[in-house]
Amino acid sequence: MSRNSINGVFWKFLVLALVLPAVFSFPALAGEEAERENPLRVHFIDVGQGDCSLIQCPDGTNILIDGGRIWTYPFLIEYLRNAGVEKIDLMVATHPHSDHYGGLIPVLKAFPVGTVLDPGKDHPTDLYHRFLETIKSLPEVEFKLARAGQRYSFGGAEILIVHPSARLPAHPNDASIVLKLTHGDVSFLFTGDAERVAEMEMMSRGFNLRSTVLKVGHHGSRTSTGTAFLSRVSPRAAVIPVGENNRYGHPHPEVVRRLRLRGVEIFRTDLQGTVLFFSDGRDYRVEFPGKAVYPEYEIPEEKAGRIVANRVTLLYYEPRSPYAVQVPPADRVFFDTAVGAETAGFTRSGW
Ligand SMILES: [Zn+2]
Repeated sequence: MSRNSINGVFWKFLVLALVLPAVFSFPALAGEEAERENPLRVHFIDVGQGDCSLIQCPDGTNILIDGGRIWTYPFLIEYLRNAGVEKIDLMVATHPHSDHYGGLIPVLKAFPVGTVLDPGKDHPTDLYHRFLETIKSLPEVEFKLARAGQRYSFGGAEILIVHPSARLPAHPNDASIVLKLTHGDVSFLFTGDAERVAEMEMMSRGFNLRSTVLKVGHHGSRTSTGTAFLSRVSPRAAVIPVGENNRYGHPHPEVVRRLRLRGVEIFRTDLQGTVLFFSDGRDYRVEFPGKAVYPEYEIPEEKAGRIVANRVTLLYYEPRSPYAVQVPPADRVFFDTAVGAETAGFTRSGW
């Protein structure tokens, strides 16, 4: 045996001695470490008067529930990118109201999307049909109707659809997709704009609704979060997604009182901005990354004083509007006159 081959055997043995224990002990260590380094993240994103939640599962799966109103997209897309989102595995359009699905239209074009869950409640508005058309134009996106009892599993995070059933309630709010996310001992209930009718149906279905965190239904409207439903969910914390000084008076004081009476810790996106939960499956902690900040883009000097239209939202702004600078350069179209913008299919923004 030459010196070289003895060396070869020695090295092989040394490598095996080092690698084997590592191979056998690695999975357990990796599991614990992964949990510490990759906790479940649930973002209740401040999108003003609207609703938008991002769930980032420990295995890297991204779930987006609603996307706020369509014109919040420059902020939302940047927020998602900053959160490390490169694809959306599951997109949930809780119900066909534009403060929920609107922002999903540009998100569908900005990120690859796996599956879209929709309640299948038709709503005769141009924007909702545009949402459906956008999905149809993307053959790689799977469109699925959400029905109570469906389950999904993403690396330790379980999703259960608790509403609606195939027999959809008359009001779009009550047709909201409601889902429960469970990660170990910590769970979240996302209720869309579900009101009393939906809450009664959910309670009659026999699912365990008890959840650590409740995303309060319909922006804290008094028509949601009934006492019986609240006692079934029995949350430790509640998040109300709501815009500052909104014209609906949300959240209604009765709802805040009902939550306080039960000792529930209340978070509000109008007061605290985005509310971000981290959970290792045993407990949770909360951070506040801040209020929504809408990026502003310089308008080239030669275009100053012209009308700015946005080809994503199909809205146009007078040159003096403070929102004209918020149209991303890639999406803007300039017009000399309002008539020109309207002829081209744009609608005047109220702002
Ligand atoms: Zn809503």
